Amino acid sequence: MKIVMIGGGPGGLGAAGAAKGTDPKAETIVYTQFEDVAYSPCGIPFVHGKEIDSFDRLFLATKEQYMEQGIDVHYETTVNAIDRANKRINVAGEGDISYDKLILCSGWRYKELDIPGQDLDGIYRVKNIRSAMNWDKFLDNVKTAVVVECGPIAVEMVSAMVHRGIKTTLVDPNPWPMADVVDPDIIEPVRKDWEEAGVDMRWGERVTAFRGDKTVTHVETTFGDVQADIVILGTPKVPNNDLATEAGLQIGSTGGIVIDSKGQTSDPNIYAAGDCAEIVHGVTNLPLQGLTGSHAYAQGKVAGVNAAGGERIYQPVHVPWGMLAGEWMIGGFSFGETTATAVGMEYVCGKTTGITRARYYPGVRPITVKLLVDPKTRGLLGAQMVGGEGVKERADFLGVASRAGLTIDALATMENVYSPAIGALNEPIQIAAADAVMKLDGKV
Ligand SMILES: Cc1cc2nc3c(=O)[nH]c(=O)nc-3n(C[C@H](O)[C@H](O)[C@H](O)COP(=O)(O)OP(=O)(O)OC[C@H]3O[C@@H](n4cnc5c(N)ncnc54)[C@H](O)[C@@H]3O)c2cc1C
Repeated sequence: MKIVMIGGGPGGLGAAGAAKGTDPKAETIVYTQFEDVAYSPCGIPFVHGKEIDSFDRLFLATKEQYMEQGIDVHYETTVNAIDRANKRINVAGEGDISYDKLILCSGWRYKELDIPGQDLDGIYRVKNIRSAMNWDKFLDNVKTAVVVECGPIAVEMVSAMVHRGIKTTLVDPNPWPMADVVDPDIIEPVRKDWEEAGVDMRWGERVTAFRGDKTVTHVETTFGDVQADIVILGTPKVPNNDLATEAGLQIGSTGGIVIDSKGQTSDPNIYAAGDCAEIVHGVTNLPLQGLTGSHAYAQGKVAGVNAAGGERIYQPVHVPWGMLAGEWMIGGFSFGETTATAVGMEYVCGKTTGITRARYYPGVRPITVKLLVDPKTRGLLGAQMVGGEGVKERADFLGVASRAGLTIDALATMENVYSPAIGALNEPIQIAAADAVMKLDGKV
């Protein structure tokens, strides 16, 4: 059995490890265009912001470790095409390579703006660690940065620029940061912090050109020019699925490759996982694309097990998420009011601002919890949070609660840990749930 992965990100490595674990005799080959695998790109913004002192700390395993596991990684190697009829791929520098099962984990790229100057030097698309190392040296001499569109990675990069003392301008056609994910009341404390830190935020403003001779010096927007020593692109992630499209695999409405719960594409010998594929949302049953590294890794493992002859199912996603945004943590699961309103979904909202520890205990921080509930089923539709700590654990918990089909009534009567140093007497999730119940029962 020869199993070939295209992609050395979390999807591809999850798939390779799981395939090898399922069938240790399988020949397991990974192709990646990058110089490394097994590093955490998620840490890159924090090295730029100097919270982490070295890129070396982001490497999680060595190249030798993969060799010892019997996973044959081909670095800096591009797969040019897939020949499904003959079960072969064409690889730059290697020619035609056969496969028994192919797993596509070709990931994502930043959506390019169709404007003049996008090929100028000085436009940074944060992704590959080697290129991040070079950009980090470049940042030492940067005085002005323009962040174009404020997706999640851009939020982290704005904070990094602030920490680095670089004068930062944010240009985004949307009305607030991460507008397609997060509600304005949840992101407001972050926006306020950036304002105090001197970030020039230009919401509702569109970039029309990047200007400069060889290297970008200005960003032209619908409201004028902004000086830029560096441009950081924070546009949405789009699936990297040229190979799949050219091979005639079924592509879904999100642009991701269509897969079933085993990760199998429209070709039974080809699987896909991670950001190149689309996946079913557990609340709406609609397809989603471009989730997180943890989703890509888990999906990769499912595809790897199944490709190697095992059996594993990937369930629809409830998308717990969370991140540091300025000095705040934000997060939630599924979606918020903005999305619910946009798709015309009926909902009732329960909301509270509570505290993360006993109010007398050092380090206590506020946390706002907002729950969206289906008024008919009283099931959870989504949650959004902003606070000083404890967002990740609550997001994970609420994601599982939603997957398990718990109602808002169950949350309103939940038990909780009270211990001064780690939790307050009143759990904010429970108070927000009780607020929703009161509204549902017409008591407020
Ligand atoms: C700065 C940054 C911060 C992030 N922060 C987080 C975070 O906090 N939490 C989180 O969960 N995730 C985070 N992510 C992960 C990210 O958002 C994605 O979800 C994740 O990278 C998806 O993994 P993937 O394996 O699907 O694809 P990718 O990571 O995009 O990997 C794609 C792989 O495919 C290879 N490839 C593509 N085409 C070819 C070809 N033709 N031939 C050969 N190889 C090819 C590429 O070289 C690469 O190895 C972050 C990413 C970045 C860059």
